[in-house]
Amino acid sequence: MTIQAPQHIQKIAPYQGGKPITELAREMNLKVEEIVKLASNENPLGISPKADYAIQEAILDIARYPDGNSFALREAVSNKFGVAHDQIVFGNGSNDILELVARAYLSSDSETIYSQHAFAVYPLVTQAMGAKGVVVPAKDFGHDLSAMLAAVTDKTRLIFIANPNNPTGTLLGKAALYRLLKQVPQHVLVVLDEAYDEYLSAEYKSEAIGWLKEFENLVISRTFSKAYGLAGLRIGFGLCHAQVADMMNRVRQPFNVNSVAQAAAVASLADDDFVARSYALNQAGMAQLKHGFDQLGLTYIPSFANFISVKVGDAAGINQKLLQQGVIVRPVANYEMPEYLRVSIGLFSENAKFLEVLAGIIKG
Ligand SMILES: *Cc1c(COP(=O)(O)O)cnc(C)c1O
Repeated sequence: MTIQAPQHIQKIAPYQGGKPITELAREMNLKVEEIVKLASNENPLGISPKADYAIQEAILDIARYPDGNSFALREAVSNKFGVAHDQIVFGNGSNDILELVARAYLSSDSETIYSQHAFAVYPLVTQAMGAKGVVVPAKDFGHDLSAMLAAVTDKTRLIFIANPNNPTGTLLGKAALYRLLKQVPQHVLVVLDEAYDEYLSAEYKSEAIGWLKEFENLVISRTFSKAYGLAGLRIGFGLCHAQVADMMNRVRQPFNVNSVAQAAAVASLADDDFVARSYALNQAGMAQLKHGFDQLGLTYIPSFANFISVKVGDAAGINQKLLQQGVIVRPVANYEMPEYLRVSIGLFSENAKFLEVLAGIIKG
């Protein structure tokens, strides 16, 4: 064809998501009910009953445009996290937040920094802007903060840090992160992606929101897709300095967050019990999977999130056999981890089925 997209767009490798259940059902001629999907870090408990109710209510009014400023949700987030209204930006998933920061702050001559094995969206939003992504080698599968700091140049605009990281599940200590913020030059924004914070125990939970007063160049991103279970509705938010939020809002679609998602998010924030149950189920499921891996003699990367990456050797081959038996997990070769599979923590029965099928494959 004669119309050509710019080189920087043509070079983008498309995002590979977890395989949808319906797609595997079609491909393998399986029933949807017999398939176990542990591939996208979704909440196996579904959503809060309060959110469920709010969704039913909000559906009645979808002929109207949503509130482009998400006022009710802004109020709820402001109260819950102790930040001012003008420090909050809402996104169509937190993926949108990552994209808004990139659109607001990158041009074709800027650079971003992220770690090897870090979340795939960082290179995507960088490349979409024609900017240059600098990948810093990981240390024990986690972020090497001093190497990332050393990679900063005059052209650096963004440093992306996922904490915990996906797909490795690794966690950076609070003191190390704080030190990085103290040292990063003022022309660089640090984007701290905390998609899995709700799965951290009290001692590890992020304190970064409290740091916003001190650091104008900090953007914290949060999502309703993981512990809150609203992945299909697409909603997340960014917390930052008011001037940074202002820039992000300038490049935001006026109605980027739909009305049903806004209502569900407000209700979700009011249901601490659901988050507590999700956390507890995750702790138990993590122990169950680790025990299963230990019994199979498999090693894994200790994880602080709602998934775990396990070393299986021929991950592509084993993944294919898992799929044939109705189990969807995530191969992570595209993250330079060709020997690993990333497995989301599911219900007890789902974890058990995965372990049983995996054991059958490994023992041949
Ligand atoms: C899942 C995930 C997100 C959240 O994506 P949404 O767009 O909010 O669904 C963000 N960052 C990381 C590291 C993730 O794993």
